[in-house]
Amino acid sequence: MGTDVVHVEDTREVVVHAWQARPTSNSAPLPSIPTNQNASSSVCSTSIVLFYQYVDPAWTPSVHKARLKEIISLATSLHVTGRGRCAREGLNCTLTACAENIRKFCEALREVDPVFRETDFKITDNLPATERFKALTLRKVDELVAYGLEGAKAPSLREYGGTHLEATEYHKCLQNPNAVVVDVRNAYETAVGHIRPPPGGAQLVDPRMRNSGEFAAWLNSEETKQKLQGKEVLMYCTGGIRCERATALLNKMTSEDDGFKVQGVSHVRGGIERYLKTFPSGGYWTGMNYLFDRRQEQLPENHNLVDLAGKPMGSDQLAEAIAGEVLSRRETTAAAVEPPQPKCCVCARPYALYRGQFHCAMRECKVPVIVCPACAPKCSRSLLRCPLCTEGYTAPKQRPAFLQNAAMEADATAKSETEFTQGSTSHVGTKFSPNRRIFFGKLPLHVRASTLREFVVRCCDGAVNVERVLWAIDPSTCGFYGSAFVELSSDVEAERVLSQASHVLDKQLAALSRCKKRKRRRPSAGAEDNPLWALKLLGTEKRVKFGFAASISSSQSDGCTFESEIPPLPASCK
Ligand SMILES: [Zn+2]
Ligand SMILES: [Zn+2]
Repeated sequence: MGTDVVHVEDTREVVVHAWQARPTSNSAPLPSIPTNQNASSSVCSTSIVLFYQYVDPAWTPSVHKARLKEIISLATSLHVTGRGRCAREGLNCTLTACAENIRKFCEALREVDPVFRETDFKITDNLPATERFKALTLRKVDELVAYGLEGAKAPSLREYGGTHLEATEYHKCLQNPNAVVVDVRNAYETAVGHIRPPPGGAQLVDPRMRNSGEFAAWLNSEETKQKLQGKEVLMYCTGGIRCERATALLNKMTSEDDGFKVQGVSHVRGGIERYLKTFPSGGYWTGMNYLFDRRQEQLPENHNLVDLAGKPMGSDQLAEAIAGEVLSRRETTAAAVEPPQPKCCVCARPYALYRGQFHCAMRECKVPVIVCPACAPKCSRSLLRCPLCTEGYTAPKQRPAFLQNAAMEADATAKSETEFTQGSTSHVGTKFSPNRRIFFGKLPLHVRASTLREFVVRCCDGAVNVERVLWAIDPSTCGFYGSAFVELSSDVEAERVLSQASHVLDKQLAALSRCKKRKRRRPSAGAEDNPLWALKLLGTEKRVKFGFAASISSSQSDGCTFESEIPPLPASCK
């Protein structure tokens, strides 16, 4: 197994491109179109842009709606595809197009709203055409990162946001023995790769989060406060967005707590992605950078990809080599709180790749887990446990006082909204429960994702956002068998849909049975009031079953799902 340690290079070797420089009050220039590409040529390869922009103070609901519309029409006119999230607190996107149009889009976005003049657009050119997204999906969400801060009520970034450091400055700070490094990503991301400061340098304190919603309570725990007390706090995440609110949260906490003080809070501009581009040999980074797009992971550019015989490593070999590197770095540089280890969760073999969509089977967890190729075909999904669940780790629960108030306010708003639409608060879900998915059963096999979306949205008069539709797949036939999950953007919305859907369907089934009894006569006036749209839409006259997805068997929720417009039928899988 290769255990070659990544070399830490001298900061003098670093080349920072002009466009990476800190934006001034004027917009930073976008990188020029690569010279090997002829913009007017009909054949142009794919470019990708990653960016986020917080808006402080948040957009009003009407401005938010208008911006969403403007951005979609702009992207459509320039043939820009990809996905994004748009909240009142800002925009976060990963978009693809040809090199010229990506730049036109960024320039035009700055005209849509001056706030985008400060945006750090991270453009990568010359990607294969296969990396281009097929469609544009822009979701309207409450929060850009699910910290559970209710977006508009979160600590102001202008007032409390941390200092942005360029990668080279950040690199130097990692050598400071009075500094603490906090990885703001989830534990399963940190396990396969993270920043490990040099011996005698900063202390690594891993928050061991299953999701970002746990961060505020972790920061508020006595144990964490003791570790951060009096230190310079250095945060980082994949692209920088998660650090924005995270640093603001910490600054707000220390401003309100006389007994808890730190020596400055900063994060690396552009996150790990920019750090690794600045330090092509990795710098203080070790392992894989877990990514949520098609690339799946990123390695330092100069990372060794060949085995001892000089042959290129296969993904299996690479996953072992990377895990070996991460584990050996643990031995040479101790951390105050270690992240989980990069190992197969079945056989404990060192392995640093997530493949095959395996998840922890614990109901409240569900994080991705590593299963090596040897264990993958024979493992039982319902027995898989992530490293945190294996050791029985439970995250701190007590959030800072100022957030408890915000959460209560938000909860009260949600409740009153729910009361207004459904006339009862008896089933209002708890705020952070995972019940955002609604299970639908006994569906006709020709049902489509857009049909289910339309049904759910019409049930609630357009007052809900469907995040996605997932088809449940029978593992033996690889086909759809009439069950699906509709994922809403919050559990309050899911509750609303449940109550409305049962109301609509009950009413329509009753009307239908009345129609059948009076076959020879004209349908009653009551039936004419009900155009039976839901039953027509779903293509069924039978009882459609539905309920919270939490009540279904774990094998169904464990990744035997498929996202597409048309469900995969058994016949299509040979
Ligand atoms: Zn294994
Ligand atoms: Zn778990």
